Amino acid sequence: MSSLSHRGREARIVIVGAGFAGLSAAETLVKAGFQNVQVLEAMGRLGGRIHTTRPFSENIIELGANWIHGQKGNPLFQLAQEHGLLSEGDSARIMCQPHSVTSHDYFFREDGTQIPTEDVDEVCCFFRQLTSRAFESELEERHNGLSFGGYLDSAFSESPLATLNDGPKVFEWCKRIECTDEASSSLYDVSVSQLGFYIALEGGFFNCLGPGGYQALLDLLLKSLPPEAVLKNQAVETVQWDLKAEEQGQEQWCPVRVVCENGESYEADHVIVTVSLGVLKERARTMFTPALPKSKLCAVERLGFGTVDKIYLQFSERFWPEDCAGIQLVWNQGPEDKDVYSCDCEGESWKDTWFKKICGFDTVARHPTVLCGWITGREALYMESLKDSEVRDVCVRLLKSFTGWSVPEVSRVLVSRWGHDPYVCGSYTFIPPGVNAVREHEALAAPLPAESRYPKRKPLQVLFAGEATHVNFYTTTHGAYLSGVREAQRLISHYTDKTMNSSECT
Ligand SMILES: Cc1cc2nc3c(=O)[nH]c(=O)nc-3n(C[C@H](O)[C@H](O)[C@H](O)COP(=O)(O)OP(=O)(O)OC[C@H]3O[C@@H](n4cnc5c(N)ncnc54)[C@H](O)[C@@H]3O)c2cc1C
Repeated sequence: MSSLSHRGREARIVIVGAGFAGLSAAETLVKAGFQNVQVLEAMGRLGGRIHTTRPFSENIIELGANWIHGQKGNPLFQLAQEHGLLSEGDSARIMCQPHSVTSHDYFFREDGTQIPTEDVDEVCCFFRQLTSRAFESELEERHNGLSFGGYLDSAFSESPLATLNDGPKVFEWCKRIECTDEASSSLYDVSVSQLGFYIALEGGFFNCLGPGGYQALLDLLLKSLPPEAVLKNQAVETVQWDLKAEEQGQEQWCPVRVVCENGESYEADHVIVTVSLGVLKERARTMFTPALPKSKLCAVERLGFGTVDKIYLQFSERFWPEDCAGIQLVWNQGPEDKDVYSCDCEGESWKDTWFKKICGFDTVARHPTVLCGWITGREALYMESLKDSEVRDVCVRLLKSFTGWSVPEVSRVLVSRWGHDPYVCGSYTFIPPGVNAVREHEALAAPLPAESRYPKRKPLQVLFAGEATHVNFYTTTHGAYLSGVREAQRLISHYTDKTMNSSECT
């Protein structure tokens, strides 16, 4: 038996960020009996990288996360299932089979001709076998020093598929798609030896939510919090920690002060920082006083954080066949050419090539006249600098030239710009070659001050949650959710009175 101590109930806890990590931490603390929990969110909306919108009709569009990755052991899948929030029936068929190849994808070459499905299937199947092997940590030692791209290239070059006419081109397409899962500019930027630390939960990678989308899950978390516990438009500028009693001049002093850009400040016993790794890359050196320890700053630097964007195009009418799940673009040669990566992403050099990173355009569940294009990495960052109308015109040109179909007018375009969002600065985490994933995720998650080194200071002043802090589920919504629960549990354990049983008394 254990229960929260009086000190725990009274402890002042500030949570920076209202994404899944921040909200799950808040929910867990409030449910455990903490009475002073304050979530501060910089944006004018809640959810962070969850952004469910309705720009085209009453049906939702997800600008951020779409799918629940895995079922077994996934708390978000369980929550969605319990509350009937999962997609049912055929309406979500397409969304459930997204930007990975399906038998309903149409693959086009640059010259406007279509590649037979069997040819595409063969290469995609081989590609999937290679990636599964990498994720299951069954690689031979000779692959360990390689990047993910290097490993794939080496394995493909030994395959008879490499000699087929379209084989190498389709393989490049597969690599481009994989960049979406890795949020990387190129698979040469991703470590192959560390992929095995990511755990794919059983039950399918692409589980779909129903008509309420991810917002419905966020709403469940928000419902369990008192409305005043979450404040929007409260961008935190600095986290001052390790404050001394003398500086505060009061008996009940707090070791942490959180100061917002609007000048408001919050005294706290504990702060849980859930901002993205992208934000930490931009601001970790200025946001904390005293500075973060070297191990944490190194983790922020070493882990990768890439950009994935979506381009939604609503047409005046559907121009693709009804059975078509996606129009995939197979370039003769694309930005997977390694030399291109020496370019400056904001520079003019991307002007004529950025769009070659668009893998294709998928149909969108519940939106019969909408297509969604995906783009990643430095090309995505370049695209973000363009006007919506420019992006639209390029996409229409591509669709016309690759398919040869007559493409009707685009009635609306919606482009995500995660890389330039000042409160996200990218999309999700990846592990670059040479980086020890477990060590860096753990360094990022470690609370401050490190208890063993500072025995006299108040413990657990600054805690860290967020998808990048999860060793096995980084990049995902459930990783973010579980990291928030983990840090809440850390505080719950700290403030729990253990009812002693007889053996403990003696
Ligand atoms: C395009 C895209 C597609 C994705 N697809 C999927 C998918 O299909 N499935 C999946 O599982 N995951 C997906 N993800 C990843 C998933 O969305 C994230 O892993 C998860 O939502 C991260 O949650 P978080 O709480 O860690 O961080 P965030 O959601 O980034 O929350 C952090 C919060 O902190 C706030 N903040 C930042 N700075 C400050 C400050 N100074 N003061 C106060 N608040 C601040 C931010 O505004 C934000 O609300 C996708 C992400 C993107 C961008």
